[in-house]
Amino acid sequence: MSIRRLSPFMVNQIAAGEVVERPASVVKELVENAIDAEASRIRIEIDKGGHERIEVIDDGNGIVQEELPLALESHATSKITDPCDLDGVATMGFRGEALASITSVARVVVRSRTRDAAEASVIEGEGERREGPKPAAGPVGTSVAVHQLFGRVPARRKFLKSEAAEMRRITRIVHRLTMSHPDIAFTLISNGRTTLELKARKDVRRRILDVMGPELDEHMLDLDVTREGIRLWGLVGLPEVARPTSQHQQFYLNGRPISDRSVSHALREAYRGLIEPSRHPTAVLFLQVEPTRVDVNVHPAKTEVRFRDERLIHSIVRRGVLECLGRSDLTPDLSVAESSPSASTRPLFGSGGRSGGGVRLTPPPVTSVGGGVGKGFDAEAARELARDLSERPAVIPSPVPSSPVLQVHKTFLVTEDEHGMVIIDQHALHERVMFERLLARIESGPLPSQRLLVPEVIDADPIHLEGLEQISPLMERLGLEATPSGPRTIALHAVPVLLFERGVKAGSFLKDLLERAGEGTLSTTDEEEALREVLDMMACKAAVKAGDQLSSRELADLLEMRETVERSSNCPHGRPTSLRLSMEDLERQFGRR
Ligand code: ADP
Ligand code: MG
Repeated sequence: MSIRRLSPFMVNQIAAGEVVERPASVVKELVENAIDAEASRIRIEIDKGGHERIEVIDDGNGIVQEELPLALESHATSKITDPCDLDGVATMGFRGEALASITSVARVVVRSRTRDAAEASVIEGEGERREGPKPAAGPVGTSVAVHQLFGRVPARRKFLKSEAAEMRRITRIVHRLTMSHPDIAFTLISNGRTTLELKARKDVRRRILDVMGPELDEHMLDLDVTREGIRLWGLVGLPEVARPTSQHQQFYLNGRPISDRSVSHALREAYRGLIEPSRHPTAVLFLQVEPTRVDVNVHPAKTEVRFRDERLIHSIVRRGVLECLGRSDLTPDLSVAESSPSASTRPLFGSGGRSGGGVRLTPPPVTSVGGGVGKGFDAEAARELARDLSERPAVIPSPVPSSPVLQVHKTFLVTEDEHGMVIIDQHALHERVMFERLLARIESGPLPSQRLLVPEVIDADPIHLEGLEQISPLMERLGLEATPSGPRTIALHAVPVLLFERGVKAGSFLKDLLERAGEGTLSTTDEEEALREVLDMMACKAAVKAGDQLSSRELADLLEMRETVERSSNCPHGRPTSLRLSMEDLERQFGRR
């Protein structure tokens, strides 16, 4: 076989595979062109999920008649002239291949009129065939109609999903594009029916709520921070509006929608402990980065980018969102139904009368310091933690220092804060505190470790041995040391001081850990992620349990820790650590209001 040069048409068809995957990607390219043309209204018409027709109509600058043929040629663009421009592209498009690619796999009709032109002109293209440009009637602006996408490329057409599925993708991409351009009015029409109608808005917040639903208004926080020349702004949702999918998560770089694993990871990190791991935060984040610090040209559809300093971006997103969430009080209010008081607010000593022990209120107010050695919360540790975390925002309105605290059924703590009454899950809070403390500590090196005089020998399955092999670097950071000591045994040589002090059976902890690693349920690709999962496990094991009697000293220490730990209203598993019954609710329940 001899080497032959591909015809331009073939080149376009191949390129089309990259730029034009499906109707939604055509919509994206056409809408981006309309945005680049400074349109103030964009109308998107779709027939049969885009299989039949995709048409985007704008009132932008238009294309002069002589240049219409060029618009359909590859590598023809009005958007960059100088190689240096590639470093700082301000427009959505710039490769000059979208229309050419689409034309290679569909019948395309472009009708356009500039402001100074007396009339519009129209050009039609399909494959290598061209017709026009010729004069036509039409308003200022451009309409691009794409008929029978992949009509003559059966292999590609086969891959299209059902009309409904393609329409969902189109809607999603239109949503994304509209959110970053609030000043443009958008209409989306599917099979003749208007499915989205957005009027021009002055600010992004209004537009995002138009798209995502106005009911989110009170659940979305505004964010705007600039660090090291990088601006991060947008809206972040409170934990209660987290979703089962990441549909409500949008990222933009310099106004362009992007998908970036590191940014979404940073976002997830910021919500760690606030939402269940299976849920996804709601957030729309815009990054403004000097164009020379990113490469947007790595993916033909420009949705993937390469940051020159990925770690910095990660940390800006994580910290920015964390601080934003930190400024709001995340202690969920107990909602009290007006008509039927829930069990939790039923009068405790009312006429109904409770049989059995009712509620035993054990410890005296914290002001009278009882002895209680117990498992010993370490007050020094609490102070150390406070120091560790001192640069982080203090968040939770803390219990009034002199407030009494009661332990209820050895499980819950009841105290007050400035808004009302606070009920704390002792295990969840302690776990949260431990987790934060471990996380802060491990940043400065491996956890302090206690060497065992005699190694503890543990029975092990192949799964455990497999796990041991996989996570040995991680174990070093945790202060855990273990080695295989026989075909079915592992010797444990050193354990983290924390587990030792808290009386946790290190052998069974290790087995749990190795089993998860061996079975692959631990995130093994990302060591930091895996580390956090393990710290989670440690915190859970080391924390006081429901049923542990706490001394008043321990209670006081625990509450003191609560003040120092940001967002302690949720444990790392996303369950709440505390709930509040507000004064208003109490007053309403007792008929004082
Ligand atoms: P790119 O957007 O990368 O330049 P395209 O193939 O998408 O490449 O478009 C080619 C050219 O056609 C653009 O550079 C622009 O000059 C012109 N064009 C396309 N769509 C429009 C539009 N809606 N309004 C005005 N000009 C357009
Ligand atoms: Mg374009």
